[in-house]
Amino acid sequence: MIRTILAAAGALTLGACNLSGDAGSGADASLDVPEVEDGDISEATMIDITRELSSDEFEGRMPGTEGETKTVALLTEKFAAAGLEPGNNGSWTQKVPLVEITGKDFAPLTVTGDNTELSFESRKDWVGVSYREDVQTSLEDSELVFVGYGINAPEREWNDYEGLDMKGKTAVILVNDPDFGTESLEGPFNGKAMTYYGRWTYKYEEAARQGAAGALIIHETEPASYGWNVVESSWSGPQAYAQRGENAAPLTVMNGWIQKPVAEQIFKAAGQDLSALSTAAKSKGFKPVALGLKAATSFRNDIRTFESQNVIGVLKGKTRPDEYVIHTAHWDHLGRCTAAPDGDDICNGAVDNATGTAALVALAEAHGKAGAPDRSLVFLAVTAEESGLLGAYYYASNPVFPLSQTVGGINMDAFLVGGPSKDVTVVGPGKSQLDAFLNKALETDGRTPTPNPNPEAGYYYRSDHFAFAKQGVPMLYVDGGEDLVEGGREAGAALGTEYRENRYHGPKDEFDESWDWSGVMQDLQLFYRIGRMLAMSESWPNWNEGDEFKATRDASCEAGEGC
Ligand SMILES: [Zn+2]
Repeated sequence: MIRTILAAAGALTLGACNLSGDAGSGADASLDVPEVEDGDISEATMIDITRELSSDEFEGRMPGTEGETKTVALLTEKFAAAGLEPGNNGSWTQKVPLVEITGKDFAPLTVTGDNTELSFESRKDWVGVSYREDVQTSLEDSELVFVGYGINAPEREWNDYEGLDMKGKTAVILVNDPDFGTESLEGPFNGKAMTYYGRWTYKYEEAARQGAAGALIIHETEPASYGWNVVESSWSGPQAYAQRGENAAPLTVMNGWIQKPVAEQIFKAAGQDLSALSTAAKSKGFKPVALGLKAATSFRNDIRTFESQNVIGVLKGKTRPDEYVIHTAHWDHLGRCTAAPDGDDICNGAVDNATGTAALVALAEAHGKAGAPDRSLVFLAVTAEESGLLGAYYYASNPVFPLSQTVGGINMDAFLVGGPSKDVTVVGPGKSQLDAFLNKALETDGRTPTPNPNPEAGYYYRSDHFAFAKQGVPMLYVDGGEDLVEGGREAGAALGTEYRENRYHGPKDEFDESWDWSGVMQDLQLFYRIGRMLAMSESWPNWNEGDEFKATRDASCEAGEGC
């Protein structure tokens, strides 16, 4: 899933303030945040493993391919050499049942009504996929309904589907949430910060819950925070999904995106004004609008079920081995993707996320060299993140180590190898008491926390820690800083933009022998300290009062051992 280095001018800097915000400070005082030594972390490990995992031999590490076999073999070999034990009851892997659905032979998307015959081309104007294991997908005569942001949030007394029977219809949905575009963090949907309601995953889940046959999100680069090229390549070709268990959630027939100009054409044909209705959709009490037009399309699907793998290693704790600190990173990437003009069609995924996977090994080695701490350290390389955090969701709903005995963790996704920085970027600042461990670790190298400058992009919901957070486990997601030693915030923002526009989720996310790894090594030392502190601490850090995940954690602690 999307993970990109934040490139936004004018990032907020809070200097050395305590990030856990007022809510946490009182409780933080009672937290046991022990002193720890720095780790002996190998830069050679980072370089060698990132280079190897992102080489063409690994073919972009698509789940269910030879690339997976090679990746799992490399990781188990390196975890063993680092002194870890197999994490899953004697096995290094946890099988993750997936299904791969590849759409093909796409008919145009037609939109018809009285005096209206519109036809749109797949990939250029729209993309569509089926989550259902049907060899044939057909959307027929499906009434189009504009449902604004497509949100049903009872706790915010907001329901864009109020009084609507969506059976057999197709929802046309805006991306992000109604607060998009505001400057402050105040508002019914946390102001500028995207809530989970803004994510495409939520939009499809809700449309399906409403009984819709189709769900089409209107693409716009800013509220989506990525261009059509990303949508086109991510929603085309083989798509992996979790195999559906017994009482799995309902599914639409088809989920997809349409380009904004296409949506404008459709609204015009319906005698409606998209921008006026988009403004109306920002207010509570917005009423969905039937467009009086019908959509239709069809395509065929190749279906393949297979088992992918999460790779798990553990460094058993000395005195409290049944308490776990977890490090996560996804090993998978996009495999073969839309070719670059030079014909290169391997999405090598060097930054995303060969770096994070290499970091798991480098940290495991360093902790191994330092000897076992009091609590156990878990290193979890998850699969199928690019298809919707599937490996992480599977682990979080089938945990090897009970979640109530999981103290918390650190997720690592995409180190942009841009040289040392004076700060780090905190995605989801002020959410939990883990910030106290982060602040302590930052003090040691005199760096400062910068709250994620693009809260509107919803990065906290876009990588593997989210699957754990959703189950209540406190998770930190910290990224490289933007305030680079060489060139400051300007250089950092430029690097982020360059990555997002030229390399992200494309064939050019490749290893570069000239990279300066000193910034990455700084960040790894930070993650080492935090992991070590958590593994020596007596405390069970929780989410701060009012955080969306606290209730889940409290319930899981109530029900289980540990926290
Ligand atoms: Zn990633």
